[in-house]
This record gives sequence, C-alpha cells and structure tokens, in this order.
Amino acid sequence: MAYDWLKGIEDHYDIVVIGSGLGGLTGANVLAKCGHKVLLLEHHYQLGGLATWFTRKGGHIFDISLHGFPIGMIKSIRKYWSQDIADSIIQLKGVRFINPQFSIDTTFDREDFTRQLVEKFQVPAETVERFFTDLRAMNFYDNNTETTGQMFARYFPGRDDVQRLLMEPIAYANGSSLDDPAITFGIVFSNFMSKGVYTFQGGSDVLIKKMGAELKANGVEVRKHVVVEKILTEERDGRKHVTGVIANGRTIRCHVVLSNSNIKNTVLRLAGEDNFSPEFVAQTKAVRVNTSSCQVYLGIRKGETLPHIGDLVFTSAEPKFSSEKLVDLHTTSRTFSMYYPDTRPGSDRYTVVVSINAKYEDWNNLTPEHYATEKLRLIEESITALEKYIPDVRAKIEWKEAATPRTIERYTRHWAGTSFGTKFEGLKVSMDLPAQLPGLYHAGSVGIIMSGWLGTINYGVIVANQIDKALAARKRAAAAVA
Ligand SMILES: Cc1cc2nc3c(=O)[nH]c(=O)nc-3n(C[C@H](O)[C@H](O)[C@H](O)COP(=O)(O)OP(=O)(O)OC[C@H]3O[C@@H](n4cnc5c(N)ncnc54)[C@H](O)[C@@H]3O)c2cc1C
Repeated sequence: MAYDWLKGIEDHYDIVVIGSGLGGLTGANVLAKCGHKVLLLEHHYQLGGLATWFTRKGGHIFDISLHGFPIGMIKSIRKYWSQDIADSIIQLKGVRFINPQFSIDTTFDREDFTRQLVEKFQVPAETVERFFTDLRAMNFYDNNTETTGQMFARYFPGRDDVQRLLMEPIAYANGSSLDDPAITFGIVFSNFMSKGVYTFQGGSDVLIKKMGAELKANGVEVRKHVVVEKILTEERDGRKHVTGVIANGRTIRCHVVLSNSNIKNTVLRLAGEDNFSPEFVAQTKAVRVNTSSCQVYLGIRKGETLPHIGDLVFTSAEPKFSSEKLVDLHTTSRTFSMYYPDTRPGSDRYTVVVSINAKYEDWNNLTPEHYATEKLRLIEESITALEKYIPDVRAKIEWKEAATPRTIERYTRHWAGTSFGTKFEGLKVSMDLPAQLPGLYHAGSVGIIMSGWLGTINYGVIVANQIDKALAARKRAAAAVA
C-alpha cells in the first residue's frame, strides 16, 4: 500500500497553505507566529519551490535561483524568519557585463553605477542623479502609464548602450521587457541600486532547511509529497466561501486557503471558474506569465579549481539589447553564476549555473527527440561561451545538464512553467481574490514587483497580515453570536 503522507493530520485547520515557495513558507510562518493553526502542503519531495537545489553523483550541488537579491532581504528575513538566517546574507561584489557595446566590472549599486554612467558612458551627472532620484520616488499607487522603454527614451534618448546597462540584468532575471510599466523596472532596479547584490552563504539547501526547522518550532504542520487537487467551497448567505481542500484524495477543512500555487492555477484549476464572476475569470485568463527561464548546470570535478572571473557575469553577443532577442530560442545572451567554494564554507567545490531565457512555447512545441537535441545544444553553446573566459574549463566539467520552462512546469506544476510570476496585471487579480471568494488568498510571484526572493517574501507577509485580520474579525463575530 502507498505511504500515507497525510498520516496523523487533523480534520480542520485555521489555514491550509498550498505550496512551499518563499511566499507560502513565509506566509505560513507569520500566521503560525500569530497563533493560528496552519497546515502547509507541498507536492514536491522538498520545500522551497523555485528557491531550490539538487545534487548529482560526484558530490555536485546546484542552486536554481540563488543568484542575487537586494539588501532588503536582510531586514525581511530578520523580521519574519530569524536573526540566525539573516546573518548568512552576504554581498556579491563581482558583477560583470561583457557584450559588444561595453565591458564593465561593478558592485551594482547606485554609487558605482553613477560613476560608470558619468565616466564611462559620458552621461551628464545631473541626468544620472535625476534618474535615480525619480526612480526612487516612484510609487506603486501612482497612476503612471509610461513603459520602461518610454522612460529610458526620456532620460537617455538615443542611448541604447545605457538602456542595455540598466535593463539587461533586470530582464535576464525576471523576464520583464521594455513594454512593461516603468514602475516594475523602477521598484526592482531601485531595490538593487540601494546597496548592490546579495546572496545566502551556505546555499539554498541550508536556507530552506533552516526555514523548515523554524516552521516546525512555530507549530506549522508541514507535509511534503501532497498534491492539493481542489479548493472546496460552499454557499452561505448567498455567497460562496472557502471551506477546505482535497489533497491526495482526502478532504481537509479550514477557514482560509492561502495558495502559493501560480495565480492562474489557483483560480482556473484549483478553485474553478464557477466560483468567480465572469469578469474576474476573464481578467485571470488575460494575465500573462513570465515563462522563459532555462539553465545549464556545470559541475566541476573534485580537485579542479576555477579562476575568479566574477560572481555574476552577464554576457551577450547581440550587437544591441532587444527584449525579443533575449528570449529567442537561439539567444546568445547568458548569465554565468559562478559558485566558488566560499558559497558553501567548508566545501572545496566549484559549480557554474548558466541562465538563459527562451520561451515556453518554443520548447513546448518540440518533439521529444528535438527537445533532447536542443537541450544538448544549449549545454554545448554554454560551455563554448564559458571557454572565452576560462579556456580550459571543458576538461574540468564532470557533470552537465540543462533545464527548460518544461522542467519548471514539471517540478512546480506552474501554469506554462511560470518561473518569474506574472506581468503587472497579475497583481490585481491576486489582490482581488479574497473579495471574489471569501477565504481564498494568494501569495506568490505576481506583478513582477512581488516576484523574486524579496518581493515574494514580502508579499507573503502582506497577505498573512490580511488573513490574520480576517480571522480575528471572524473570531469576534463568532464570540458576539455566542
Ligand atoms: C531559474 C530561476 C532563477 C531565479 N533567480 C532568482 C534570483 O537570482 N533572485 C531572485 O530574487 N529570484 C530569482 N528567481 C525567482 C524566484 O525564485 C521566485 O520568484 C520565487 O522563489 C518564487 O516563490 P513563490 O512563493 O512564488 O513560489 P514558487 O517557488 O513558485 O513555489 C510554489 C510552490 O507551490 C507548490 N505547488 C504548486 N501547486 C501545488 C499543489 N496543487 N499542491 C501542492 N503544492 C503545490 C510547488 O511545488 C512549489 O513548491 C529565479 C527563478 C528561476 C526559475
């Protein structure tokens, strides 16, 4: 008989959290600390969602999304997790750009970018200062329809090299384009510019294990290998309300469901269209997702070393920056994340993770044979590209493997392999969810702004606070009736 991964759980919880990405984990932790009874269900065999890792024969360990986040993570982790976890966050100092338009080394913060823009790119200091100040003052609630491309044209007309410097790293990371609202660029870029790029020393495995221990200490019931198949609703006072979930074939009752599954999955598949107004369903269907993350993992044989060529190396052979070229199946744009032994203190190992963007549809349309050969091509081209900076690297590589948006779809169950949440319009759908279906909340990468490690953690906190308030009001109402 199959093992019962739900063995010993109770029939009712205050909150069931679907998924253990950083949004789900953080939401669960905050809610448990508020005193609520929380059950967290994850379909995968390990926690973390996209903040994950895998190991391979030969002692190789690969991080998927531990490339860099803004300094704001230190405060968020300290406040909503622990000082101990926050203490392992350190700065990555070696950020490099190598492309036909320029080659620079930077600490990726406002001071250094100002220096580079003024000295190397010859942009007037006053323009740079105004750009940074205006960006910092951007407000989510401003009704600004300007796109990122239009904003660049306003500050730096005719300067596609400057546009590339500002946009390329953000586009690599979160799939945003020049046509997205300027606010999405402004918030994400300003977060990084504040003090540079940071990482978690010890690796994603250590981070997620520490988070798992913290959840346990705070009383969250955590179960892996559990797929939530359906969100249950009932009609009360002429309105539908959430009453529970079906997971691994079993019904679990709850007052609130916090879904960390992709927003389209949550509305259209888990809850189902008939629980929402036709307008809301149409809005959800119209949400565009970012689905272009591909990676090549290169494991260096034990005993071999690599020279320090930087921590994050943004490379491209494209003559100019283009949002379309960046996500072309045959793109030449690659970011090398170099993991030296100090990534995991005490280790003597090196790995390289190459991040490339190429559209889900292009990968999904391939036959199985063609899919396999395209993955081999991705690996081969990545090694050849790395040889430019480390000529003897090929002989040192012991393990090579590639992942595409289809891989992400398989491991996270996300809509079309969503890797960086949704475009801007997804945020409204996510935020409107509880008003549409009382008891249902969503926390996870949406709107570009609430994506990435920092955005997702902060969004998990915002939504947890809303749930805490709603449950307190519910308790007060119940007490009044009694
Ligand atoms: C290749 C790559 C590189 C990245 N690099 C960076 C980076 O350098 N810096 C950065 O800040 N961000 C990076 N990101 C983005 C960042 O990892 C994500 O934005 C963030 O981790 C997403 O968290 P989330 O809470 O939205 O949930 P996810 O991580 O998407 O997790 C959702 C979880 O829900 C589970 N789930 C879904 N449906 C069900 C169900 N029905 N039942 C049970 N469980 C379910 C999934 O298995 C998954 O564990 C990267 C992403 C990718 C893909």
